[in-house]
Amino acid sequence: MHNLDTLTVHAGEEKKKPYGALSMPIVQTSTYAFTDTADLIAFMEDKQAGRKPAHGEYGRYGNPAQSVAEQRLAILEGAEDALLLASGMAAITGTLLTFLSAGDHYIVTDDCYRRTRQFSQTFAARMGIECTIVPIDEPQTLEAAIRPNTKLIFTESPTNPFLRVVDLQALTAIAHAHNLLSIVDTTFGTPFNIQPISLGIDLVIHSATKYLGGHNDLLSGVVIGQKETIDQIRELQAMMGAIPDPHNTFLLLRGLKTLALRIERQNKSGQALAEFLEGHDHIKQVWYPGLTSHPDYETASRIMTGFGGVVSFELDTDAAGARRFIDALQIPYIGPSLGGVESIVEQPALMSHFGLSADERQCLGITDELVRYAAGIEATKDLIADIAQALTAI
Ligand code: PLP
Repeated sequence: MHNLDTLTVHAGEEKKKPYGALSMPIVQTSTYAFTDTADLIAFMEDKQAGRKPAHGEYGRYGNPAQSVAEQRLAILEGAEDALLLASGMAAITGTLLTFLSAGDHYIVTDDCYRRTRQFSQTFAARMGIECTIVPIDEPQTLEAAIRPNTKLIFTESPTNPFLRVVDLQALTAIAHAHNLLSIVDTTFGTPFNIQPISLGIDLVIHSATKYLGGHNDLLSGVVIGQKETIDQIRELQAMMGAIPDPHNTFLLLRGLKTLALRIERQNKSGQALAEFLEGHDHIKQVWYPGLTSHPDYETASRIMTGFGGVVSFELDTDAAGARRFIDALQIPYIGPSLGGVESIVEQPALMSHFGLSADERQCLGITDELVRYAAGIEATKDLIADIAQALTAI
């Protein structure tokens, strides 16, 4: 078994590829053709017997680059199989809809991605599926929320925007004791910083749009786990059609090749930015799991090997001062998303939580002065110098 650094470059890929190409070619086809009926029958027999057919059948059931990306991602997470989907949300909703039916109940931890919460509270409810949202750091409340019809626990770690880190060991102990499926979205973690399968989690989900793709130029999602479990989600994907595009998948494979280098830089910048900000006069509070002041520092140090490139902080100013700070930054783009080579900054109050009432935002701790900074791969020193000069604009 090689290091993750080597596996991100090579895993799942044959050395000998069509036309002697070194990089995995883009097979831009919606369908696959058979030379004659004997070829078709051989294909169907292979498929029925669970053998790998020589080529595909129809684009909604897979693509050569998709299979390579799935194998690579499964290997990186130490799992049997993976399924690539059109986006992170397709992975989340596809997984939940596979394992939940009308009359079922599931548990979601709070501070998770806004659309995951929205799906659980609106769409799932419409289908007769009940959901309880529990505090991220209260395993006893989580256990108390389990009912006879509870099917699964869905969590996210680290979270957005407060970088809360769930004690996945405590969570999986509860899930196993009650025979529940455990699912974690570790988009903010990546396999370099956390290995949830080794902590007992059944299914790992990523918005591959973020660190895995890494270049702010694709949308993709993946769910990773045991083959038998993944096969069930694959069956739903074949009906729902949220499939990855061949060109997107090529970009994902290319992005993955530099994941180790990018994460090394982003972990370093995240920690350095957090330490710089924590000591600054214009900063009220910093949230970064690599700081001893973070509420989950102990958990993060136990189950993570790096803390990522996202740092959230509250400026010691008012809404207008926060806007002056953001507008004075010269390096990061202002926008949603994270994990790419370009740094991105946002004020959750004006982006992900825009339109919520002041009371709703207060409940979630989203103030006008809260900033989420997602470091790219630019020089750490440059990012800090840029933030330092922008702080003088407050
Ligand atoms: N999960 C997390 C933690 C996210 O930050 C996002 C961001 O958009 C998603 C899921 C959804 O992923 P996508 O945008 O690829 O659908």
